[in-house]
Amino acid sequence: MAIRNIVKDGDEILHKKCREVVKFDERLWTLLDDMAETMHDAEGVGLAGNQVGVLRKVVVIDIGEGVIELVNPKIIKAEGEQITAEGCLSFPGEYGMTKRPMNVTVQAQDRNGKTFEISGEGLLAKAFCHEIDHLDGIVYKDIVIRMLSPEEIE
Ligand code: ZN
Repeated sequence: MAIRNIVKDGDEILHKKCREVVKFDERLWTLLDDMAETMHDAEGVGLAGNQVGVLRKVVVIDIGEGVIELVNPKIIKAEGEQITAEGCLSFPGEYGMTKRPMNVTVQAQDRNGKTFEISGEGLLAKAFCHEIDHLDGIVYKDIVIRMLSPEEIE
């Protein structure tokens, strides 16, 4: 495993759409392993392919309950709403208020290509939305209600 460089604000790859994964091979597994290690090293809760410079639909999420790997994910159900502070490893030190659904169900493939569904509430629902947006070239600042001032960030 290896820690990869996280793409930061200003790099246009953050605004590019990722492509479907079609090969579920060792290269994909290495990418997923590296992304999890990179996310943990940076103390983030999620990371998307284009954030490590790879234009593929891959996401890792860990809200403290273990790593969730999502390949070719899509949101198939979203309900409720939450307005909370959100940040991103590509925009270190910045936070903004966003409106996200409270409950989200995602359909994705695992690292072997098997399709599964996973549901999340609260922080996990927010992470699903944030990371899947990344795959479409959307960052949270594109949908932010307002950015927090430095005084509001503890
Ligand atoms: Zn992000």
